[in-house]
Amino acid sequence: MSSSEPRIPLAEPYIGGNAARYLQECLETNFVSSVGPFVTMFEDAFARAVGSRHAVACASGTAALHLAMRVLDVGPGDEVLVPSLTFVASANPVRYVGAEVVLVDVEPDTYNLDPALVVAELDARARDGRPQPAAIEVVHLLGHPADLAQVVEAAERYGVPIVEDASEALGATYVAGVYAGRAVGTIGRVGCFSFNGNKLITTGGGGMLVTDDEALARRARHLSTQARLPGLAYDHDELGYNYRLSNLAAALGVAQLEQLDDLLAARRAIAARYDAAFGESGSILPAPRAPWADPSFWLYTARLADPSKGADRDRLLRALAARGIEARPVWTPLHLTGLYRDAPRIGGSVAERIFDTALSLPSSSSLGPDQQARVLAVVHESGERT
Ligand SMILES: *Cc1c(COP(=O)(O)O)cnc(C)c1O
Repeated sequence: MSSSEPRIPLAEPYIGGNAARYLQECLETNFVSSVGPFVTMFEDAFARAVGSRHAVACASGTAALHLAMRVLDVGPGDEVLVPSLTFVASANPVRYVGAEVVLVDVEPDTYNLDPALVVAELDARARDGRPQPAAIEVVHLLGHPADLAQVVEAAERYGVPIVEDASEALGATYVAGVYAGRAVGTIGRVGCFSFNGNKLITTGGGGMLVTDDEALARRARHLSTQARLPGLAYDHDELGYNYRLSNLAAALGVAQLEQLDDLLAARRAIAARYDAAFGESGSILPAPRAPWADPSFWLYTARLADPSKGADRDRLLRALAARGIEARPVWTPLHLTGLYRDAPRIGGSVAERIFDTALSLPSSSSLGPDQQARVLAVVHESGERT
């Protein structure tokens, strides 16, 4: 019976609306590369959607983060604070520019950068006369906004710019506190988003850098197009990249952005159903949802209540897999990866505890109530045997 049930993916794209029409338009007008009207259209619509002054469309979220490091002049000898619990693409761009990643532990309530650790670190550096980090990278993990107020306050005190990796959190907002009404990605000097295939909206592959600083936006766009100077001759004044999004991808992006509200509403309805089911269970904690945040629930990530139950989490993952349901643990904390094992670290082992007990459940915007009931049935069956 189990193997004949249709597979339920973790997060699959939902492409509809005007996508086919806009792509057809690219083909008919021959505008397929990075020169074309959809790139600018996508940038303008995206900036409006998140409430930022400027947006620069990039070939990937990783490329956007790399450009963020470049426009902030992060380089060799610099350090950048990065949360330990995140996808490796948050940290790699720091190393691309020759700077050092300093890993910071996360807080259990949001799975994001622990603000108290950041504040204590900056204060301690100031007190001891040590140099401050060249930047603080804040990640909004799995669609939940990071708690930014204290981090921003401390960063401003010491003149340290903040880069937001909002790759997983398009549409997430703050609903209370100093940033009430603001979207993730618009609080720091630079914010970055990803439109990879499994993100909330996709362009097949792509990213966006947003900022309110016109000079930074101009430089990012310049670097994304090989730092080529205007004019017919090929002259270049900096080390640039081929990081511009193609018109084809941007056409898909414009169509996906038109669907953003629907995709978010679907995600939030799915989260509400998981919340209701887990609220009664006691053995499973629902996904993070701070009172001051309206998360996007890109990947609904629940956690076993008993921190010693890592083995049960793995059994639950296996039970789901056996029924054709795709679920997975959260990102391996970077200090446990071979690549960042030797990186300097600040804080304790909250990231490890989350890693041991959390699992992301199917969260596609297209996930129907019947499919979700199938997921919950397996979770409950497995829970009863605990
Ligand atoms: C997806 C992702 C990225 C990188 O995005 P790409 O578009 O795949 O390069 C960066 N950071 C985080 C946290 C992500 O989840």
